[in-house]
Amino acid sequence: MKALDELTFDNRFARLGDAFSTHVLPEPLDEPRLVVASNAAMALLDLDPAEAQTPVFAELFSGHKLWAEAQPRAMVYSGHQFGGYSPQLGDGRGLLLGEVYNQAGEHWDLHLKGAGMTPYSRMGDGRAVLRSSIREFLASEALHALGIPSSRALCVIGSSTPVWREKQERGAMVLRLAPSHIRFGHFEYFYYTKKPEQQAELAEHVLSLHYPECREQPEPYLAMFREIVERNAEMIAKWQAYGFCHGVMNTDNMSILGITFDFGPFAFLDDFDAHFICNHSDHEGRYSFSNQVPIGQWNLSALAQALTPFISVDALKEALGLYLPLYQANYLDLMRRRLGLTTAEEDDQTLVERLLKLMQNSGVDYTLFFRRLGDESATLAVTRLRDDFVDMAGFDAWAEQYKARVARDGDYSEEQRRERMHAVNPLYLLRNYLAQNAITAAESGDYSEVRRLHEVLSRPFEEQAGMEQYAQRPPDWGKHLEISCSS
Ligand code: AMP
Ligand code: MG
Repeated sequence: MKALDELTFDNRFARLGDAFSTHVLPEPLDEPRLVVASNAAMALLDLDPAEAQTPVFAELFSGHKLWAEAQPRAMVYSGHQFGGYSPQLGDGRGLLLGEVYNQAGEHWDLHLKGAGMTPYSRMGDGRAVLRSSIREFLASEALHALGIPSSRALCVIGSSTPVWREKQERGAMVLRLAPSHIRFGHFEYFYYTKKPEQQAELAEHVLSLHYPECREQPEPYLAMFREIVERNAEMIAKWQAYGFCHGVMNTDNMSILGITFDFGPFAFLDDFDAHFICNHSDHEGRYSFSNQVPIGQWNLSALAQALTPFISVDALKEALGLYLPLYQANYLDLMRRRLGLTTAEEDDQTLVERLLKLMQNSGVDYTLFFRRLGDESATLAVTRLRDDFVDMAGFDAWAEQYKARVARDGDYSEEQRRERMHAVNPLYLLRNYLAQNAITAAESGDYSEVRRLHEVLSRPFEEQAGMEQYAQRPPDWGKHLEISCSS
């Protein structure tokens, strides 16, 4: 295990030079203090968890101190925001501090979000508030624990620096980790600004560092794009299966690695609602829960357009064609497992769709339903769950179909069924109201709730003693919290 001053840097992106990023120093926050740190994320850097308690930790991740080998850079990119092209975005309030490699030979980008103004800040102040930093921290680590690919978060550092949003808040920084911070929007930037040399350099960089196995293929760039399509299909299948709504699927928020990235007004579904819009500013529902599936393809098409200098249009179209079938296969596979099924049958898709429609009409809690379904035998479970449905006759018909399907699936003991189902159906979820409770306490200086919630969510499938309050439906006040982009 390492101390903070023993990290080893290798800043590969910074070496691409000034056409790709700009040197900017972080602007320190006043009176920095540790809000929360993730031991699991510390382990990715081989860091001793005790390091989080040292004063230098809070200083490093609030812009007061910097490693001599760090090379803080603001990256330039563009992207399609809500369907329209924004020609220049970039890191407006975050800096890539450098790339660290661990003993296992993995590289991790250290990205400090909320680090002050950069040439890409446009009208913004370069800051992030405590509320949004806590939300990003909790979400990254919670998604990872659920098995959903995501950027990670090392810590949140709070401060006394005032930051103005709708009201005065306090500035904070979150240290984000990811193997790369390259977005679809990076490729779009060099494509639309007509800089073919830099675009080729970027493509080469991504291929050699992040998709080296594609080089063995006859058409390496095409193989890489296919892999990106596959990873996105898998990631979005997991979002849909677990009820995660990203909220701002602009192409500048889509990682080239197919990991969940750039958290804003995200939400996990409480009651199942296919039309749920988690972003208060998304008036047309472009990024509603069910639209995430076609938007995933739309975003990949935007990336494909930017890759036309390297790959033929026909080949790109063919690769894009893989997205929906792959999405569907991955989604159905996960939903079967959530239902406790180990085999595949033609009609399983209908079984899932009918259930979701019933849940939608009755406002059934998406997460608790599946957890309870696995608590006991199929027969006993559906009898108990029936009361949650308004259309009981409809549910009974579904339950008959389900029980027959379970019987055909195999002969399992109740214990085996529970174990298998609980391993894929979380008990604890980052519900908006839980995050809000933790934020309210943190805003008055009490960080214990953020830490406890983080801890509970790091083992979402495991029942934890004394934590019943984290496995409940939201109270009335917590059902329709409005979350906007202003973070
Ligand atoms: P986001 O919606 O957080 O993905 O941000 C979209 C773009 O706006 C990115 O280029 C961000 O860097 C920039 N941005 C968001 N908030 C701020 C802020 N407070 N100050 C400067 N730039 C920001
Ligand atoms: Mg963004």
